[in-house]
Amino acid sequence: MSVLVYIEHVDGAFKKSALEAVSFAKAVGTLVNQPVYALSIGEVAQSELEKIGKYGAEKLITVNQAELKQFLNQAYASVIAEVAKSVEAETVVLSNSFSGKGMAPRIAAKLDAALADGAISLPRLSGTAWTIQKTAFSNKAIATEELTGSKRVIALTPNSFEPKEEPTSITIEPYQPSLSPDDLSTVIKDIVRATNQVSLPEAEIVVSAGRGMKGPENWAMVEELARVLGAATACSKPVSDAGWRPHAEHVGQTGLAVTPKLYIAIGISGAIQHLAGVSSSKTIVVINKDPEAPFFKVADYGIVGDAFDVVPQLIEAFKTY
Ligand code: FAD
Repeated sequence: MSVLVYIEHVDGAFKKSALEAVSFAKAVGTLVNQPVYALSIGEVAQSELEKIGKYGAEKLITVNQAELKQFLNQAYASVIAEVAKSVEAETVVLSNSFSGKGMAPRIAAKLDAALADGAISLPRLSGTAWTIQKTAFSNKAIATEELTGSKRVIALTPNSFEPKEEPTSITIEPYQPSLSPDDLSTVIKDIVRATNQVSLPEAEIVVSAGRGMKGPENWAMVEELARVLGAATACSKPVSDAGWRPHAEHVGQTGLAVTPKLYIAIGISGAIQHLAGVSSSKTIVVINKDPEAPFFKVADYGIVGDAFDVVPQLIEAFKTY
């Protein structure tokens, strides 16, 4: 029996959220006294693969074949389920990223396992029943779920578990999965990269702006603040609806739910639908010229002022920090 963790990479570099998932899997493995095996799909350099041993995985299974060069939801889910069966994994851990969200239910169905997507805590064990906390209702609530049965799939919310170094000697083992034509029925024709330098779903810091910015021509200072902080940029729904920013940046009930350590909201009123996607941020800073803006009610720190005065000062201050 084992714990299997799927580790995501972008262009051959493991994502921070993947390392969080390995550390989380290691902590689960310690709870149930089972080894942790990591699984990587696609082309990753040897030096990058060896990093995984630092986070406590004992074996790294690598799947690298031409059909799997690009991420394919159905095919990757099949590979993860197949490997899980081959290593007799009782628990499969992956990140609740864009791709993890799509794959987790498929893997759970293939393994006939319970599913905790959006998990934010280590499980508490009571016999075969596990209880775990997860985000619910677009991050507006925290649900405590009981996972019954002997198998479970846990999709971990990015930034909810710190990667911890626990070096082990890792063995790297290539694996050849048996893919069916159904698994490969989707063909990716083209990929257009979002403008965000830092991936929004996994960002530790998000600089987000709303209609208070008046127009797309004023986004340079939002991007500059994000750049000096190493943050991802985001926006409110009307901003992406108006075409001022790409839809991939829209956060909230109908957009992405984000869980950064720091969320800076500039010229955003704080409507309930916006808060639904950002209120799980650890620290919220609001910049708004209206002292009555509802966002201030959930802010940890608030600056009442004109964004066009405040943001340039913040940029200068952070540059010299
Ligand atoms: P506004 O409400 O216009 O607020 C602009 C803010 O900027 C104001 O508070 C103002 O005081 C401030 N401001 C203006 N000028 C300045 C300045 N110079 N300096 C500083 N502050 C300034 N919205 C989302 O964001 N995400 C969603 O997922 C989402 N889903 C929705 C789903 C449904 C079904 C519905 C009905 C609505 C949804 N909305 C969503 C829309 C939401 O209700 C709000 O309309 C929207 O969030 C408001 O965007 P905003 O704060 O950018 O704009």
